[in-house]
Order: sequence, then structure tokens, then C-alpha cells
Amino acid sequence: MQSFDYQKVYRLQEALDAASASKGASAFLAGGTDLLVQIKEGKKQPRCVIDVKGVHEMAGLTLSGDELSIGALTCIRTLETSLSVSEKAPLLAQAAAKLGSIQIRHRATIGGNLCNASPSADTASALLALDAQVEIYGKTGTRVIDLDKFFLGPGATVLGDGEILTRLKIPLTRKRRGSVYYKLSTRKAMDLAFVGVAVLLELDGGDRISKARIALAAVDPTPIRVPSVEKQLEGRMLSFDAARESAELAARSCKPISDHRASAEYRREMVRELCQQGLLAAYRQAKS
Ligand SMILES: Cc1cc2nc3c(=O)[nH]c(=O)nc-3n(C[C@H](O)[C@H](O)[C@H](O)COP(=O)(O)OP(=O)(O)OC[C@H]3O[C@@H](n4cnc5c(N)ncnc54)[C@H](O)[C@@H]3O)c2cc1C
Repeated sequence: MQSFDYQKVYRLQEALDAASASKGASAFLAGGTDLLVQIKEGKKQPRCVIDVKGVHEMAGLTLSGDELSIGALTCIRTLETSLSVSEKAPLLAQAAAKLGSIQIRHRATIGGNLCNASPSADTASALLALDAQVEIYGKTGTRVIDLDKFFLGPGATVLGDGEILTRLKIPLTRKRRGSVYYKLSTRKAMDLAFVGVAVLLELDGGDRISKARIALAAVDPTPIRVPSVEKQLEGRMLSFDAARESAELAARSCKPISDHRASAEYRREMVRELCQQGLLAAYRQAKS
């Protein structure tokens, strides 16, 4: 493993100062479950590793009337077990429970899962379906952007040099909702998804879909939403045929590749199947 300087920081500004002092040759360390593996494999060679685990501005989970705010350092296990998350954003709790093993979930953070920008990141599709926003701190202060503008490609995000993801913001609603996250992986645990599907449906008083969100993992260069399917569903009641039609469109809208985990054809077929199942399940849940 290549050697590097290690610096522990406790404030956001210290993290930013340390990153700018290293002139682009540093990496932030949260749980380290991606970063340390990448350094060991020579895929990343930072001269300085800035440990941000003690930065209190990036910690904690707060619930206000209409928003769940999650610090970037929140570990995946907390998301899986928190009562606030399972009551207010059960889709995120479900996705968190499917990430890695229990040991990994205790170490891995939600900020790290997003900033690593793997197309198969489990929390990303759930957060996209939940309309999450990300708060970013950098030289010019704080900015907040929609998560669907955050990912640029495999391993690439909009984060500029030295910028740090501080919090996630999830808008809450009292409307009737149903949501599911399905993950397919070669092994049952400790494996990345070769397809991930998150579905969220919100209903009006007459069981019509007032808001639909479909987000997919591991079938495009980034985790994606599928707006064409969402538009097709909104304003309708969900029949079996409507679910099949929307699932067809979702399968046609993604760009999966073939690799050692699955072929592109199989991935597309699984998007179709899981979207159909997911839509029917989320609709049933929202009506009950
Ligand atoms: C055995 C194993 C199994 C795994 N299984 C899964 C799985 O099933 N599903 C899945 O999605 N992932 C899986 N992973 C990947 C990994 O655990 C997750 O992506 C995890 O959430 C990363 O979080 P971390 O805190 O460990 O990130 P780190 O490794 O600390 O950081 C990851 C990257 O993000 C950057 N970063 C971290 N936090 C911030 C921040 N706040 N602002 C800016 N940049 C930041 C780091 O510099 C680094 O480039 C697995 C990993 C292992 C080793």
C-alpha cells in the first residue's frame, strides 16, 4: 500500500483548509470502506488522507416538520435501525439494510456511498426516489442541489476540488405513500447490485397516483431516475396492464452493460420484472 500523510480534522473549515493545502492531492476519509480498498489496489493515490469522522457539522439525524436532515457521516446501520428513518423514509431504511454486511454497515457512511459514485450504490436510488437534496460545503460557502444533478459518471460527481458533502435533506409528506427497493446481486450479502430498483408512489384521495418516482441502480453510468415512466404513471390508477406498460418503458430507458456480474440483456429483463412487481407492491401499500 502506498504511504500517505494522515490528518484528522474536527471542523468543516479545517477540512477545507487541509484539502486546499494539499492542492488536489488529498482524499476525505469517512468510513474508509471504499477509499482504503481503492488505495490498497492502487486505484487512488492521495498524498494526504483527511479524516473527517470527527466533524460534528456532518453528524446526526434531525427531524423537523417537513424535512429529514441526515449528516453525511451517518452510518448505514443507523439508517437501517433508526425509528425516524423507518417511519418517515422507509425506502431508505430498506435500501440501507441491503448494503454489504452488518460490519460494513456499521462502518460505511451515507456520504461515502454517494461520493464514491458507484452506479450500483444502494442508497442512491432510494434517495433519488425520495427527491433528496445534498448540501455541499466549499470555498464559496454552502450550496444545496438536487441529488439527480450530483452524479456525473462512474466515480464522478459535481464535487469540485476540496468540496465536501455535509448533509442530505429529504422532504417529508403526510400523503399516502408506498415504496419498495429491490436489489439483485450475485451473492446474497457483501455484493454490489447488478440491478437495483426503487419505486415510490403517492396517491390522491381517489387512489390516483399523484406522484411517481422510479430510480434504477447498476443499469446506467450513474444511478438514475426515469422521468418518462414517472410522467406516464402520474394521474392514473394503477392496473396490472399499466404496471406492465410502465415497466416496459423503464427497461427500454436504461443503458445497462454486460460485465462479470450480469449481461446487459439480463439486467434489462430484470428491470422490467422488478419495476412491474415494485409498482404493484408500492400501489398496494399506499392504498392499505
Ligand atoms: C465488502 C464490501 C461490501 C460492500 N457492499 C456494498 C453494497 O452492497 N452496496 C453498496 O452500495 N456499497 C457497498 N460497498 C461499498 C461501500 O461500503 C459503500 O459505498 C460505503 O457507503 C462507502 O462509505 P464510506 O464512509 O466507507 O466511504 P469512504 O471509503 O470513506 O469514502 C468513499 C469516497 O467518498 C469520498 N467521501 C466520503 N465522504 C465524503 C464526504 N462527506 N464529502 C466528500 N467526499 C467524501 C472519499 O474521499 C472517497 O473517495 C461495499 C464495500 C465493501 C468493502
